[in-house]
Parts: sequence; C-alpha cells; structure tokens
Amino acid sequence: MEIKAVRGMNDLFGDELARWQFVENRLRRIMTNFGYAEIRTPTLEKVEVFKAVGDETDIVEKQMYQVQDRGAHADSKPEVLVLRPEGTAGFIRAVMEHGLGNTGHRGRYYYLGPMFRYERPQKGRLRQFHQLGAELIHDASPEADAELILLFDHILTNLGLQKTHYEIRINSVMCKDCRPAYREKLIGYFMPHKAELCDNCQRRLERAPMRILDCKNEACKKLAEKAPLGIDNLDEKCRVHHARVKACLDAEKVTYVEDPYIVRGLDYYSRTAFEFTSNLLGAQSALGGGGRYDGLSARFGKQDFASVGWAIGMERVMLALEATGTVFPKQPGPLAYFAAMGEKAFDLLFPLHHKLKKAGLAIDMPYEKDKGLKWLMKQADRVGAAYAVMVGDYELGSGQAVVKQLSTGTQENVALKDLETYLHSKAGATQGAH
Ligand code: AMP
Repeated sequence: MEIKAVRGMNDLFGDELARWQFVENRLRRIMTNFGYAEIRTPTLEKVEVFKAVGDETDIVEKQMYQVQDRGAHADSKPEVLVLRPEGTAGFIRAVMEHGLGNTGHRGRYYYLGPMFRYERPQKGRLRQFHQLGAELIHDASPEADAELILLFDHILTNLGLQKTHYEIRINSVMCKDCRPAYREKLIGYFMPHKAELCDNCQRRLERAPMRILDCKNEACKKLAEKAPLGIDNLDEKCRVHHARVKACLDAEKVTYVEDPYIVRGLDYYSRTAFEFTSNLLGAQSALGGGGRYDGLSARFGKQDFASVGWAIGMERVMLALEATGTVFPKQPGPLAYFAAMGEKAFDLLFPLHHKLKKAGLAIDMPYEKDKGLKWLMKQADRVGAAYAVMVGDYELGSGQAVVKQLSTGTQENVALKDLETYLHSKAGATQGAH
C-alpha cells in the first residue's frame, strides 16, 4: 500500500517553498518594522484553551483535531489536547501565563505558523494551513484598530497586490453594554421565522443569534436582509469608536466597504470587526480577518485586558499573488559547482569544497566520481551555479583549474593554490547573494 500525506495537508518544497520563504521573509521584516515581536506558542494546547474561546463556534464545535494525551508519566494527565485551529486563543493563554505586557504598556506580537481544522479540502481551504497573525494588547483605542487594518493593507500592497484586487470590509459588532439589547431584538425578529432557518441557525437562534447574519444558507440570507442591524443599534461609545476608526482609514486614503453582515464567527469580538476579501480567489475569497476582542481574556478567568488582532491566510495570499502573475525572485544557486574529473581531482576538491562551505561560501559538488564533463556541466546549470570549477588530470598537472562563469560562458585559468582566494573575491563581488 502506498502511504500518502493526510488529505488537505501539503508538502512544501522546491520553487513553491522558495516563494513561501520569500514572502515569509518580507512579512517578518514588515512586522518587525511596525514594532511587532514574534511569539511562538505550542501547536498543541489543552482543549480548555479553545473552549474558553466559545463552545458555540464552528471551529470549536466541529473542526478541532483532538489528541488524547496518554498520561502515562507521573507529570501528565490523560487529558484532551487540541491541534490549534487558530492562534489567538493560545496567544491570550500565553499572555496570561507570562504576564506579557503587564507593565500597562502596549504590546505588539505576531505569529506565523500552521493551523489545523477538520474541513472539506478544496482550493484555498486546507486541513493544515498557515496564518500570519498580529495581536496588539492593552490598547483600547480606535487608533489601535486602525493600525491593524492599515498594517494588513500595507502588507498586501507591499507584496504587490493592487487596490482593485481586494476589498476591506468593516463593521462594528458592538460591546458588552449595547449588545444584549440588540441580541434580544434580533432573537425577537428571527423567532417567528424559526422554522424557515437552517438547522444550524435554529440551534444558534438563542445562543448566538448574530451568527445567523453571516449564514450562507439562502433562506437565512433572505431573512437576514430585513433583520435589525448592529450598526444601527450602537451605543454612543461604540458609535464614536467606529467613526474614529473610519476617520483614521480615510486620513490614510484607504478605502473600505461597510458591511453590517460581518460578525466574524467568534462571539468574543467587540466593536471593530473586519475582513479582507479578494476577487482573485474564487469561492474562498477571504484573505484574512480580525477585530477587537476585549472580552476574550476575561473568559480565561484572570484579568481582563483590551486586545485587537487579525490573521492572514498564507495559502490565500500565495494564491492571490500567483493569480496576479507575480514573478518571484529565483532562489539563488550556489556560488560554484566543483566538477572533479578523476579520483585525484576529487581528492583535491572534496576537502576544499568542505572548507569553503564552512567559511560561508555556497559550493556544490557531486560525489559521483565516474561522470564526464558534459554531465557535470549540465548539473552545474541545473543547480544554477554562478561558476563551474573544473579540475581533471590535465589541470592537476598544470596546477590550474578552469573556472567558467556560467551566465557569460567566459573561462579563465586559476592557479589551484589561489582558488580559495579567488572564490572568496567572487563571493564578495556578488554581495552576499551566495
Ligand atoms: P479565520 O480565523 O477563520 O478568520 O481565518 C483567518 C484566515 O485564515 C481566513 O480569512 C483564511 O484566509 C485563512 N483560513 C482559514 N481557514 C482556512 C483553511 N481551512 N485553509 C486555508 N486557509 C484558511
């Protein structure tokens, strides 16, 4: 039986991985410039971490991969662990555990890594996918929300997407003060139509009525069209907050669409909620989303603090970049390819190539000892080397290697004793490209 990878979980390698690495490096640089420090939390968390986020969400209800810890050692219990389906819950757990940002200062963090959800795989929807996440804690100001949206926008622009390729959709999902009355209003509106709602929404009606607003079912959608909207029921503080977020975006000339149907699946959101969608992606059009979730930390039991953040789907970003025909820089090949013809030449070049690698130069050398020049040169081309260094019996006799610059085809003889210095100078000339 052939053993294959789990459906919806991909191997990344070769040119595709090179593209990912290029984008990841860019993203890390941008996040650092914007003052965000990386945080790496474990891939496995206790199930309680996600239960705290909300039992009523699809992710927690249906999409979590669970692992039964064996609890065979004295220091572990037979408890249920979860492969993280998203990054915020683990982040908040870590903030609490280590008292991050406790000085009352703002704290900016980012994470980049794999997430796991039991989904039906399709284009842009995987079971193991990757997210870049940004989190800003201890800051309840509307400017913090605006910063997050502007940062997301900057990332897409910086990666080469045009404004016509994506849309920013924003909403306010209210706060703990004004939401309860609106919730009742919404339940009151849907209740007489309960039988027309899909099974999911019938269940959600009393627990999470706002989620009916973004249900994809046609009947639910039709009912939602006439439902009272949160944006029309904001209290004064939420209204001012929302207006200020929008003013910050206007000031930066970042355009957005107001979408009163964005509720962001998770119940812990408060005030600002947003999504970035792209017309380059087909059915799975969300590039990412986020918002403010001041109420989340309280669910973990300890102190309550303000937080706002987003997560960007890396696969979706890569798909969007490919759809626009983005040309990624080619992965640089090695500085030199050592082509030894015959055992004596091999014995000379092998230790030298190892020495140069240790000195920081990228040198490639095949260990096949019976190959002719034609094969060797083909390989040098294939690996994208800048130079081929050829040494055979003749060269050993004359004490000189033939060095060919592969882009131009020009050749020169270099004394074997000077080869090391020569290659170091070439590496310097290519300014660290190798
Ligand atoms: P969410 O936490 O569900 O809002 O996800 C944030 C972003 O992650 C989405 O907008 C997508 O870009 C991406 N994403 C979520 N689920 C998946 C998945 N199963 N496969 C690929 N990307 C996903």
